[in-house]
Amino acid sequence: MQKTIIATGEYSVGVFISLLLLNSGAFAQAQYDLLIQGGHVVDAKNNVSAVRDVAIRDGKIAAVAPHIDPASALKVVNAAGLYVTPGLVDIHVHVYASTGERSSYAGDNSVWPDGFTFRSGVTTVADAGSSGYRNFEDFKEHIIDRSKTRVLAFLNIVGAGMRGPKYEDVLADMDPKPAAQTALRHRDTIIGIKTAHYAGPEWTPVQDAVEAGTLANIPVMVDFGTNHPESRPLADLLSKMLRPGDIYTHMYSGLRNELDDTGHVNKGMWEGRKRGVIFDVGHGGGSFAWRVAVPAVQQGFLPDSISTDLHIGSMNSGMKDMLNIMDKFLAIGLSVDQVIALSTWNPAREIKREELGNLSVGAPADVTVLRLEQGTFGFTDIYGARLAGTQKLTCELTIKNGLVVYDLNGITRPDWTTLPKGYMETGDARWDGITPAKKKP
Ligand SMILES: [Zn+2]
Repeated sequence: MQKTIIATGEYSVGVFISLLLLNSGAFAQAQYDLLIQGGHVVDAKNNVSAVRDVAIRDGKIAAVAPHIDPASALKVVNAAGLYVTPGLVDIHVHVYASTGERSSYAGDNSVWPDGFTFRSGVTTVADAGSSGYRNFEDFKEHIIDRSKTRVLAFLNIVGAGMRGPKYEDVLADMDPKPAAQTALRHRDTIIGIKTAHYAGPEWTPVQDAVEAGTLANIPVMVDFGTNHPESRPLADLLSKMLRPGDIYTHMYSGLRNELDDTGHVNKGMWEGRKRGVIFDVGHGGGSFAWRVAVPAVQQGFLPDSISTDLHIGSMNSGMKDMLNIMDKFLAIGLSVDQVIALSTWNPAREIKREELGNLSVGAPADVTVLRLEQGTFGFTDIYGARLAGTQKLTCELTIKNGLVVYDLNGITRPDWTTLPKGYMETGDARWDGITPAKKKP
């Protein structure tokens, strides 16, 4: 026992000296696993919009600086001319695809997350209420725990989850206590409560969702369902029923009087924003119209966050993916820095996961490298109406927890002619999540 202690003591001194040498730059060995060099970093949390190098070690952001010695990194990626952003955070998706249930968001209407996320620069998604407290464990076992994407969840206030009107209109299955208990039991994964699609005139679903959110100290996301301007007007939802920090999704749907008859943004929307209610895009297959979004943005009513509402009905429609919606906001006049903030730091804050959506030293190394193309492009809304644009974002590289998980043009890869005859996997497991070299037995 005593011998071990002495050995540990000697080792610590050695490590201490090594750290001193590393810090002084005397060592040129691999201090970092991965270095992304020369890209234009946009990090809203840290007010950075400038050319920076980003270094990663052990799955975390290790340094961000105007120049980091390339010799200090095991792998160097040239990102000159590209944008380097935190991994995108999409807080409205439906990814509970595993049950085999037809016409159900807890089933066939959902998609498998990894097929849609990394290729659009998304590293974190929040499922928006596909499961409720009765089937969350099943969702976690089959999707959340098996996906490479970081999957978080808003828990539906309906116990059975998002399985169609037969379930979603049943007030008796909306129970704040078990919903809150489930959320507290899974506080690393459940980041909010969702109410959606309710057809009736009562406030009960919203009240129950807010009660569950209050018990579990998490925000509520509202899809306000069928429009009932007499019995439950939008203005009352935003100015009375929701708490600051609760989220109104589908903000540009136009389905619930988001614009008034004169084409102005509903006064209740402004009132809600003043109170701290959050406004989220939630584009989906039925919730984004140019005739609503363009005038609202012109009147200064911008989104707090961009999200897809990804599901089988939206994935190939006006909505394509997260980048397509970011492009849409570029096309109606927002800046690149703005659309990146709305897709990274803002949504991370809304779901109270402030370790995400930024490139602070010590944060999980989720990094997205984007190319901004100039050209002639077009973007369609849910009614098939087109708006022309001149800019389009493409995802070149996605890094999750320090590992490259998507590389469109192989910018991290060696040319095959430079490799030995009979080459096999070319990467290193310290940075490569796609084809790391197998460990020698
Ligand atoms: Zn949805």
